[in-house]
Amino acid sequence: MFLEVVGVKGGFSFINALEVLGEVFSVRGEGSKPSSFEIKRILPCIADSTKIRVIAQLDASIGKVLPYLYLHFKNSKYLESLGVLTFLTNRGEMVSLYSSGKVCIVKVDSEHRAEEMLRELLMLISKAYEAYVRLGPVREDTLEARRRLNVMSIYWLLPKTNCRACGEPGCMAFAFKLLSGETQISKCKPLLEEPKFKDAYEKLKAMMSSPIGW
Ligand code: SF4
Repeated sequence: MFLEVVGVKGGFSFINALEVLGEVFSVRGEGSKPSSFEIKRILPCIADSTKIRVIAQLDASIGKVLPYLYLHFKNSKYLESLGVLTFLTNRGEMVSLYSSGKVCIVKVDSEHRAEEMLRELLMLISKAYEAYVRLGPVREDTLEARRRLNVMSIYWLLPKTNCRACGEPGCMAFAFKLLSGETQISKCKPLLEEPKFKDAYEKLKAMMSSPIGW
C-alpha cells in the first residue's frame, strides 16, 4: 500500500505554504465526500529532475477529515492553521493534502502512478468520512496526544534491551520503523509476550491505532 508513510522532510512546510498561495480551484462544499479527481497540472519535479510533480483537485473539500488522516498517518505533519497535511510514501513521493481538496504529489515517477495514488487516496478519504460520521470531529485531547507521538515516545515504551528479536539492530531502529509504518508492534516479541511489558504494549497499541481502520 503506497500510503504507508516513511517520513516528512523538515523544510517541506515552506513548499506547502507556497502551494497554498499558488492556485485556486473550484470545489464542492465541505459537506460532500469527494468521489473523483482531476489532474490539473503536471510539472517538472524541482527536487528530482527524473521525476514529475502532479497537482490534482478532488471534487470536494476535505478539511473536516484532515484530522482523521493526521491520526492515521503516524509520521505526517499537519499544519492546522493552513489546513495542510504532508507525508512521504514508502516510495519516496511527497504528498500534500489541502483542506480545499487540492492534492500535490512531488517526486512521482509518472502520471499513471499519480493516478493510482489518487485513487487510493480517495478510498482512504472515504474511510475517514465514515469515521467522521460515526465519531464526529476528532477531540482536542486526541489531537494533542497525536501531536506528542514521535520516535522517542515510542522508544520509551519498548523494552530497550536491543535484543534484535524484531529483526532490527535495536529498539531505536524499531521505533523509527514503527512510526514510519514499515513494521508492526507484534514484531517485538518481548513486548508482546512478557507480562511485565503488558501496560507498555497496551499503551503503544492505543498510540498506533487508527480510527480509519485502513
Ligand atoms: S524485539 Fe523489541 S526489545 Fe528487542 S530490539 Fe526489537 S524492539 Fe527492542
